[in-house]
Amino acid sequence: MLRVAVVGSGPSGVYTAQGLVQQSQVPGVRVDVLDRLPCPYGLVRYGVAPDHEKIKSLQNNLRAVLEDERVRFLGGVRIGPDGLPAARLRELYHAVVYCVGAATDRHLGVPGEELPGSWSATEFVSWYSAHPDCVADGFVLGARSAVVIGVGNVAVDVTRILARGAAELSPTDMPQAALTALAASEVTEISMVGRRGPSQARFTTKELRELGALPDTEVIVDPRELELDPGYNEPSGLPAANRRNVEVLRGWAATPPRGAARRIRLRFFLRPVELLADGGEGEGRRVGAVRFERTVPDGHGGVTGTGRYEDIDAQLVLRSVGYRGVPLDGLPFDAEHGTVPHLAGRVVRDGTIAPGEYVAGWIKRGPTGVIGTNRPCAKETVTSLLEDAGMLVRRELPEDPLVVLRAAGLAPVEWAGWQAIERAEAELGASLGRGVVKLPDWTSLLAAARTARS
Ligand code: NAP
Repeated sequence: MLRVAVVGSGPSGVYTAQGLVQQSQVPGVRVDVLDRLPCPYGLVRYGVAPDHEKIKSLQNNLRAVLEDERVRFLGGVRIGPDGLPAARLRELYHAVVYCVGAATDRHLGVPGEELPGSWSATEFVSWYSAHPDCVADGFVLGARSAVVIGVGNVAVDVTRILARGAAELSPTDMPQAALTALAASEVTEISMVGRRGPSQARFTTKELRELGALPDTEVIVDPRELELDPGYNEPSGLPAANRRNVEVLRGWAATPPRGAARRIRLRFFLRPVELLADGGEGEGRRVGAVRFERTVPDGHGGVTGTGRYEDIDAQLVLRSVGYRGVPLDGLPFDAEHGTVPHLAGRVVRDGTIAPGEYVAGWIKRGPTGVIGTNRPCAKETVTSLLEDAGMLVRRELPEDPLVVLRAAGLAPVEWAGWQAIERAEAELGASLGRGVVKLPDWTSLLAAARTARS
């Protein structure tokens, strides 16, 4: 039997588990999918926006894999010095596949970035997704204008959530505290700002279009700003996805403002150089505006500064400039790219392949692509692992890892524990007159898991 640990139960981890059990090349594979959280699905649960029900329903596909009799979910297990050391994990399995994603966010590196009222988009997403590590609150309190820095799909997500009203958010599984806060939000002006041009924006057209379909909200673009971009003026040479974005923006540029209650301003060619405080003192000091330098295309896909500046008022700033992988206990790390060095998914340590260690997903290729991109990525890693299986299974393993984990003082949340959490979330929602409502903290998640029927 080939015994494999997959660390991380997001899409890349689950697709890896699926690839390992749904093949006939190596019979008798058993997979434990470990996660530091008591809940599975990674960014599908804690990253996909709550109003994206269709994408969220991918959980049903991931569930079918985790319910396969050859796969076991073990939640609440942290790999590392403060949990189960990676070296110990290696002893318990023939192979370990790290599918831990990109756990932190990139920094802007400009003065004022840490002012109160300035948050990473990841913090905001974690809040409205009920991530149990999120302790922040009060994002929208006292804010009337928001600036979102970056023009990727995460920027679109947080912009859309800021612009949605309570009536649309209430049917989602958003935690009650976030729903209440957003329902009371007075943010009516949201600027989403790119440092390059509209034809280079990273958002996808489907996500972009959604902004134009929000009730009581209008999207405002300045045609003169868009026209600074040669790709906007002459889109025929652009990749199809960028061309479609340009077409949507062109439509908005031709639509006069109609005076809707909320405005989303899409801005381009503005590079953030400083976050400015609002003049308050001590505890009251917080962000009041973002200073941008106007940029122009440099003819090579980049931009150059012009020495002209523009301040955009904002009592809330969300920095949405991408995720970044973090170093893992016992694994080599490419600090420049925030990934683990690998060859077709096999971890490469000091220039040689580390037998039995693999990576898939964002920690392997960086934080790009949509959920489906993880399928071929996981497949490549699984292919490598199965090729190595003959050599890997020669090593004798100790008893069932679950016994060892329990003996080490860990209390993994098994599938029944997760199902108990799901029941508790359905009950919470019913008590609030809503559908499923997520539990937002460790205490309530673990308490719910303990009620599991054995
Ligand atoms: P992203 O697509 O890499 O976008 C990052 C944005 O930040 C870009 O506009 C980038 O501009 C900008 N940026 C980076 N550094 C900057 C700086 N120093 N100053 C100003 N702007 C800066 O990242 P993401 O939005 O976090 O998304 C991550 C991945 O998840 C993407 O593959 C995305 O498609 C995916 N995702 C998909 C969905 C969906 O399908 N609905 C939802 C959420 C996320 P430059 O281009 O100029 O570098």
